Amino acid sequence: VAAQEPGFAELTFRLGPLGGTVELLARAAPPRLLLAVSETPPDDVPLPAFERSPEARVTPRAVRVVVLDPGHGGSDPGVISASGLPEKDITLAVALRAKERLEEAQGLRVVLTREQDTFLAPEARAEIANRERPDVFVSIHCNGWFDPGLRGFSVGVPRSEEPDAASELPRWGTRTVRDRRDTETLAEILLREMGERLPIPDRGVRAAAYAELEGAAAPAVHVECGFLSNREDASRLVDPEFQATLGVAIAEGVGAYRHALASGEVDSP
Ligand SMILES: [Zn+2]
Repeated sequence: VAAQEPGFAELTFRLGPLGGTVELLARAAPPRLLLAVSETPPDDVPLPAFERSPEARVTPRAVRVVVLDPGHGGSDPGVISASGLPEKDITLAVALRAKERLEEAQGLRVVLTREQDTFLAPEARAEIANRERPDVFVSIHCNGWFDPGLRGFSVGVPRSEEPDAASELPRWGTRTVRDRRDTETLAEILLREMGERLPIPDRGVRAAAYAELEGAAAPAVHVECGFLSNREDASRLVDPEFQATLGVAIAEGVGAYRHALASGEVDSP
């Protein structure tokens, strides 16, 4: 503890050499700070292929409202590329293009959690999303890792967890079977559609604890558009043309998911 005043305290942590990520998480009930140190990439758990039962009942459903969440913003730049361009600028450009495409080509209502360079806590993102009663929630990010060889895009889904009794937020573990199943379908379709349009490798659907998806009351995924810590990925990610391609790829993925639901290709548990 470096400084304590009425109203605030300043904490300093000195950590030895680490091969992983460090995250500081603020939680409201009870008030606490969590320092999460992990030795593996946060999203490094490949999810086995999702199996559908062939005799499940099939009812067409509609997708009308989509919430896109440009990762980071304001005082939180996210990963910073070698050229100095922060993740927060890339995610916003991608989200704006995806919104435009979804509105024009699909006629959907699309809401962004932020349209400017503003800070939003992870919990606030799900809260904004839930207000819109979305059918789809997509959080958009770029990856960063210590090993510059790691590259590619991926689609993240919440890791299955026991409900946290101390948390005031609805947890993934308490969600409906349908939301869970729809999330996995959405992730698979997004991955496929993005793979058809992007010239970078595909790292698959991955399960992790994504803070901004925790409270989302809708099928919700976390898209990593590539690694800013990898030279080849980064050279594309900082390019406005590639950002537009990413936006279109995400929009087409959501469109394909919408089509799958509308045509009754997706089970309705
Ligand atoms: Zn991010």
